[in-house]
Amino acid sequence: MSSSSNRIAGGAPPTYVVGAGMVGLCVAWRLQQEGVQVVVVDRDEPACGCSFGNAGALSFGSVAPLAMPGTVWSAPGMLLDPNGPIHIPLRYWLKAMPWLIDFVRAARPDHVERIAQSLALFLAPAAECHVEILREIGATDLLRFDGQLYLYRNTRQLASDDATWNLKRRYGLRAEVMARDAFLELEPRVGPKYEVAVFTPDQGSSIDPYRHAMAIADDFVRKGGVILKEEVTGFARRDDRITGVVTHSGTLEAERVIICAGAWSRQLLLSLGYDVPLESQRGYHVMVARPDSGIRRPVILSDRRVFVTPMSEGIRAAGTVEFGGLDLPPTARRLNLLARHFAEAFPEIEPLADGARWMGHRPCLPDSMPIIGKSERHNGLWFAFGHGHLGFTGAAVTGRILASEISGQRRNVDISPFSIHRFDPGRRVA
Ligand SMILES: Cc1cc2nc3c(=O)[nH]c(=O)nc-3n(C[C@H](O)[C@H](O)[C@H](O)COP(=O)(O)OP(=O)(O)OC[C@H]3O[C@@H](n4cnc5c(N)ncnc54)[C@H](O)[C@@H]3O)c2cc1C
Repeated sequence: MSSSSNRIAGGAPPTYVVGAGMVGLCVAWRLQQEGVQVVVVDRDEPACGCSFGNAGALSFGSVAPLAMPGTVWSAPGMLLDPNGPIHIPLRYWLKAMPWLIDFVRAARPDHVERIAQSLALFLAPAAECHVEILREIGATDLLRFDGQLYLYRNTRQLASDDATWNLKRRYGLRAEVMARDAFLELEPRVGPKYEVAVFTPDQGSSIDPYRHAMAIADDFVRKGGVILKEEVTGFARRDDRITGVVTHSGTLEAERVIICAGAWSRQLLLSLGYDVPLESQRGYHVMVARPDSGIRRPVILSDRRVFVTPMSEGIRAAGTVEFGGLDLPPTARRLNLLARHFAEAFPEIEPLADGARWMGHRPCLPDSMPIIGKSERHNGLWFAFGHGHLGFTGAAVTGRILASEISGQRRNVDISPFSIHRFDPGRRVA
């Protein structure tokens, strides 16, 4: 492919979106709506990264960062428990340390408040942005709004999450505490180990995150968008302007380049001098066809950090956090744990032991906020990555924000808290 072969009939070169995950696809789809000529480039098929197998929870009320003062205190206990929700393999501890130090710093109360405020502004329109896209492509049946149910073993365990729930309520999330009798009316199959729950009636979920992302990809292509299967290995530059992406087949000339490469974004950007503290928090799922499970909405085993979501193809138990970078193989033990936690919570439902198994890389920054916006150092370079545990939820908002920034129709959203430059040496706030 020559450097000029990608020009659209003599016009300006297109905008390149690197990464066809949920974030890249929403960004590309929105830009196309604004009349921008977009090419998405991914080394794999669309939506086969982290966006393939997540729990599909639309959690627009999750404004509390992962780094809360309480989490930091309870983390060592969780790490020492071999069945706990967080795992760091011994050989990865040293590598994880700088990220963990930044994470602990982000848990200072003043930072938590500032982060929650930014996340609240960012996530507030999430449902509306998803519905807008699905309506336009005729696929609103992919989302449902039956709420989410967060289970706790007892009131003492629930009290340990008080700060998180209070913060979410303060930013407008409806969250009702329910005793066992009351939550059994919503989810009758929950076993006796859970005595109390919090119900968030307004939040939603996808019936299939992969189909959801593919519906957007298909519509984008139907309307003339291009998805190229190529690995981006670097960037073409003229002075301080990014003029294209380098692939194994040649250089593709671009009007602008938007990095939406999920957990791989850090390594892609190193050659341009950006060293962002992006870590993969590896998560897993086990899934089986259980059409008669009787589970009606995402049920979250809060003590295990496991989401159990009923989907069109069956029941998916997804979650846990494992550090280990992008290259270590999946840990079979984490998958077995998911099946065990499911059996413990739903003892009357046939176990998931024979289920399909998957691992994905959550792209996580220590302050739980994504990176969205443009580079101050390189003209033509934009970013949309690092959505962590909320990338399905936030992707449609990110698409709307970037499309309006790029097309010049700025809305009244201050995206400066999401800038990549918050991690520049000397400018770090957390
Ligand atoms: C177990 C689990 C459960 C989750 N549950 C939820 C949930 O319930 N709700 C929620 O909101 N979020 C959830 N998430 C998080 C969510 O899945 C992610 O935040 C989201 O999928 C990230 O999307 P993305 O597009 O940024 O990355 P990805 O989907 O990983 O896409 C990145 C793409 O970039 C491509 N790429 C990378 N490098 C290159 C390169 N050099 N050249 C070309 N292409 C490249 C990759 O092939 C990939 O397709 C969960 C995650 C996990 C693991």
